[in-house]
Amino acid sequence: MRRGAPEVTGVELPRDSVGFTRRECPECQRPFKTRPGPMDSRAVLHKLLGFYPFENAHECVEGIPVWGCPYCGYRAEADAFLTPAQQGHLEAVARGWANHVRYEQLAHVARTLSVNPRPTFVAVEPEALPGPMEPEPDELLRVMPMLCCGEEVKVIWEWDQALHCFSCGARHDPMSGRQQVELRFVSE
Ligand SMILES: [Zn+2]
Ligand SMILES: [Zn+2]
Repeated sequence: MRRGAPEVTGVELPRDSVGFTRRECPECQRPFKTRPGPMDSRAVLHKLLGFYPFENAHECVEGIPVWGCPYCGYRAEADAFLTPAQQGHLEAVARGWANHVRYEQLAHVARTLSVNPRPTFVAVEPEALPGPMEPEPDELLRVMPMLCCGEEVKVIWEWDQALHCFSCGARHDPMSGRQQVELRFVSE
């Protein structure tokens, strides 16, 4: 990192009150939430790299897990499941960081031109990097255990069809009718 360039901070994805982070399927656009793990930062970095290449790129392009949509089963690299808001935030961070790097380069040139009494340009200090995203709201998503992987996923409350494990892709069929309580009026 060049001298003076700010640290890339605030790129951690927000979590709700029980620690889940929002995802969105790029295929069916349905929301779900999972608990962030060490793979999340890699997915975030992978996404950042897509916007602006970093010097230490080789350190973070390996090991992006493939995730699957719990609803439609679509599988893709984890960063494909960033929500549009998260992607927009990451793009703003990447752009801001690149601006700071460019500013430092220009400012360095200007500083070292001290022998020149009239520099031909002035480096304009860029805006601060965007802060962290808004906190993640708790909405009506229910927690479903993924027994195959010992994970939990929050899915849309009304979803009553099969669920696919976001991690291994295993299909979990919904509870059968026998397990659901049925109330019926019987006229005599
Ligand atoms: Zn989907
Ligand atoms: Zn699984």
